[in-house]
Amino acid sequence: MNDPNCIFCKIASGEIPAKKLYEDDDVFAFHDIRPQAAVHFLIVPKEHLPSLYDAGMSQLRPLGKMLALAGELARKEGAADGFRAIINTGRVGHQEVYHLHMHVLGGPEPLGPMLQRRK
Ligand code: AMP
Ligand code: ZN
Repeated sequence: MNDPNCIFCKIASGEIPAKKLYEDDDVFAFHDIRPQAAVHFLIVPKEHLPSLYDAGMSQLRPLGKMLALAGELARKEGAADGFRAIINTGRVGHQEVYHLHMHVLGGPEPLGPMLQRRK
């Protein structure tokens, strides 16, 4: 089920350390190693799915939990005034780690526009 070469599988198993802020049987959350906002953590299913393209109706539990936990964890981490949830997917989505994950980014400072506008 898990990929021995995958960095997020290694974090899930404890082989690689991370600052975990939540864990249950289906998902876990930890601080991004290169934070891009005052609050920046990742919510990740324990099962190795390369990307959102590979998720389907059989993953409703972890997928639901990723959304259901975002607000609660964002508030706990200090993003009480809003946040953004992002799932980069595939080459066009600029995905770097091919184990599905959702970024949660929050203030206190506003994050700016969602994408840079092209001229
Ligand atoms: P992306 O695949 O582009 O959505 O982003 C992958 C994210 O994983 C980046 O923001 C990295 O900073 C983060 N990341 C990579 N390795 C680690 C690690 N060992 N611990 C925490 N975050 C990581
Ligand atoms: Zn993995």
